[in-house]
Amino acid sequence: MVAMRILLVEDDHRFARALAAALQRRAGHEIDHVTTAAAALAAPAADLVLLDLGLPDADGTEVCRQLRERSDVGIIMLTARGEERERVAGLRCGADDYMVKPFGVPELQARIEAVLRRARPRPAGVRVVGRLKIDLDQYRAYVDDRPVTLAKKEFQVLAMLSAQPEVAVRRERLMQEVWHTSWRGTSRTLDVHMTTLRSKLGDGAHIETIRGVGYRLLPVHADVPTEA
Ligand code: CA
Repeated sequence: MVAMRILLVEDDHRFARALAAALQRRAGHEIDHVTTAAAALAAPAADLVLLDLGLPDADGTEVCRQLRERSDVGIIMLTARGEERERVAGLRCGADDYMVKPFGVPELQARIEAVLRRARPRPAGVRVVGRLKIDLDQYRAYVDDRPVTLAKKEFQVLAMLSAQPEVAVRRERLMQEVWHTSWRGTSRTLDVHMTTLRSKLGDGAHIETIRGVGYRLLPVHADVPTEA
């Protein structure tokens, strides 16, 4: 499976170290370890949260509830308390699953994968660049979730640019990969496609021309509504 960022919230240092090392070794996950509820709520967004129920400054269920209020991140509660009452409380606060300590890392890894499958409706072939969404499997593009009708070549150009947003793609490479030709003498085709692509995307994305080099796709983010 794909390596991801896991926020591990656990005040038992020995347990946390062993778990982080095992998850890194097994799947290459990047582990961000914090030991308190306050640090968990201040941590940068992660792909998944492993959350100990008994924390020094607050109950894990409270952290879970607050995380759930602001995102759909997958949350697995880690608990030493096996009583049904505690498990139910963990699931009620919005956790996706729970593990009762002690547990084996293979089982945890399996649960992590299951939670991610459930928590991530977005298929692997979808790229998001600011307001722009590109579905590589369906050959569809969206701005603010509204479909944009693109010709096949336009889509292919956009797909290439979106592979690495903010990084320039050379004209020669676009010509070779989209038109299977060298750019000499035929580059007008690319200019024409770029013009229509830009007009179809409107202000939902910015394709910058880098003179003598090529193009790069810059994300345009939706305006964050300011509070009145
Ligand atoms: Ca604890």
